[in-house]
Amino acid sequence: MKQALVLLAALALLVGCGGNASAADAPVPTVPAFAPADPAADAPVPEPTPDPNRPMVALTFDDGPTSYTPQVLDLLERYGAKGTFFVIGRNLDEETKPVLQRMADLGCDIGMHDLTHTDLTRLSYAGNVKRIQRMRALIFDQIDGGYETHLLRPPFGSLNKTVRRALRSADAASIRWSVDTLDWRSKDPGAILKIVKAQTRDGAILLFHDRLPSTVAALRKAIPWLQEQGYELVTVTELIESSGQSIRYGEDYRCKPGR
Ligand SMILES: [Zn+2]
Repeated sequence: MKQALVLLAALALLVGCGGNASAADAPVPTVPAFAPADPAADAPVPEPTPDPNRPMVALTFDDGPTSYTPQVLDLLERYGAKGTFFVIGRNLDEETKPVLQRMADLGCDIGMHDLTHTDLTRLSYAGNVKRIQRMRALIFDQIDGGYETHLLRPPFGSLNKTVRRALRSADAASIRWSVDTLDWRSKDPGAILKIVKAQTRDGAILLFHDRLPSTVAALRKAIPWLQEQGYELVTVTELIESSGQSIRYGEDYRCKPGR
């Protein structure tokens, strides 16, 4: 196991998302995979963790929740798949509570996509910390019993050192992507599916937007196709933790660490 981790760390320095990430960004595993949980009497039965040896990808959905989000959730539920939803603060109100509750109940991850979809690199360090805390509180209040997120998708994928420093001090990680389906641009289910089929690799993070009917149409084919290829559709948290490390705050992830 130790040797495997050393090898993984060595590989992480050499490659990232198929060679896109720089060596400086490559994280090093610090926590052994699947350490046994504390056997607390009141602890809920844990969700079955994905087999780390199986190919897996994380589907991510930005800019919601919208009137299309329930259709995405229907598809995930139907195929026994999970996704990660990066929601915008201004979209959240009393009416979206059942939608976010359903995300949580299905085992999906819920992450932050800013209050108003602002380019965070235009804000100060303090401004970023404040917004992260406000976003997190908004999501927390949507879920029965609360939900504390540590994931943030920077709007436009726009990230700099100031934002990363704010993320680190506010206990959050940046989640970007390795497959951009460009669904917002093409609005064409065929074109979206073509990108998914051509670019998906083990450990990929795929970017979609749950605000377009064409994306829902593409997912209707993409989800079963991915499963037929043997990919398990997991949350971003599961994808990262399956590499043997816990999520590192201030880190920027584009795919499963070591890929
Ligand atoms: Zn967005």
